[in-house]
Amino acid sequence: MTSEYERLATLNKAYLWHPFTQMKEYNSSSPLIIERGEGVMLYDVQGRAYYDGFSSVWLNVHGHNVPELNLAITEQLGKVAHSTLLGMANVPAIELAEKLVEITPPGLNKVFYSDSGATGVEIAIKMAFQYWHNKGFRNKTTFITMDQAYHGDTIGAVSVGAIPLFHEVFRPMLFPSLTIPYPYPYRYGGDGMEAMDATLTALRYLLETRADEIAALIVEPIVQGAGGIIVMPRDCLRQMAELCREYGVLFIADEVATGFGRTGAMFACDLEGVSPDLMVMGKGLTGGYLPVAATLATDEIYNAFYADYEEQKTFFHGHSFTGNPLGCAVALASLKLMEERDMVEGVKVKASFVEQKLAALKDRPHVGEIRQQGLMIGIELVRDKASQVPYDWAERVGVRTSLRARELGMLTRPLGNAIVFIPPLASSIAELDEMTDILAESILYVT
Ligand code: PLP
Repeated sequence: MTSEYERLATLNKAYLWHPFTQMKEYNSSSPLIIERGEGVMLYDVQGRAYYDGFSSVWLNVHGHNVPELNLAITEQLGKVAHSTLLGMANVPAIELAEKLVEITPPGLNKVFYSDSGATGVEIAIKMAFQYWHNKGFRNKTTFITMDQAYHGDTIGAVSVGAIPLFHEVFRPMLFPSLTIPYPYPYRYGGDGMEAMDATLTALRYLLETRADEIAALIVEPIVQGAGGIIVMPRDCLRQMAELCREYGVLFIADEVATGFGRTGAMFACDLEGVSPDLMVMGKGLTGGYLPVAATLATDEIYNAFYADYEEQKTFFHGHSFTGNPLGCAVALASLKLMEERDMVEGVKVKASFVEQKLAALKDRPHVGEIRQQGLMIGIELVRDKASQVPYDWAERVGVRTSLRARELGMLTRPLGNAIVFIPPLASSIAELDEMTDILAESILYVT
């Protein structure tokens, strides 16, 4: 008789195509099939428990199966699951918009909803483009992005992406964008200041020579996520934002990964007092419960679209599920919990605990660099520590490390040779202690 696991594994293989997954490789392994979650643990159908060491792809805030969040959804379910924002409103969407304006940097006063980080980025790009169009600057159509940037997988978001492995194949169907170096001192030599100088010099050059063609710069503030969890030198973000302002180019902050306390501030922009023209958020917005994203804009941008209909300045963009009431209700409940539990302050304490524990790994032979901002941690493994020679990608060091961590009871997903540790913000010190022990052991095993 086939077990329940075998039944599901067979169906999984027959019918599911998984994201960012080479299915030939995946189908030759035993699939992990999650059945339920509780706190920071996930349980598979065979009853095994795992720490959610990457917050289910960087989005979980309060853990799983949280009574307050479940209640917010069921209460809203008893009212209405969905009604459109096209020409009408709903209660949670209004209340959440007010809250988002309150907690984001000054100047961001208008909220446009969507349903994933990528669609939020898509909206920011289209808004920036049409902002200049509506103002009569029809040549300001180009975007600047940063080397190894990741902003999602829709065509606009890929056009401002710069990770060749993910993006190059689509190049012929993308709009061209300009790329400046990302300050990554470990790989490109020099200290943080030299790397930052290179970034700012490249940006200044583009702004001095081509500002009349450039609509916006898009940045993952403070931490570049999918590029390898790379933390910017201090003040870099602030200086980039200032340069954009000086040269009349919009500044888009993509806070999809960094937002909602992850970096030790509500938003990474807060760490340097930056107020962007457009800010994108997703992932942790609903505590990681439901797919809601938002793009916030300044009054200056909003007003460029605000006109008599005949002037044709309307922003013609929307998704069927824009402003979904269930999602907005759970986002409100998540933000309430964050405030009640003073979670942003809590992240600072927890981050410093994790930093102290991981310091013991620094002397390990294959640990090249440990990068951390709040509870976003990346550990870059290298073949040779002295020369910083990386492992060949075919060695799959990151994948093997995360498989070992899974055997030891923690889930994570690597970025090339960088091991990613992004625990739910609600993890206790005792849970972080165990998770970092597993992390240390899995690295030791593989290297
Ligand atoms: N922007 C950043 C910085 C991200 O890290 C991600 C996802 O990891 C996205 C955008 C895309 O978000 P989503 O996967 O919800 O489309």
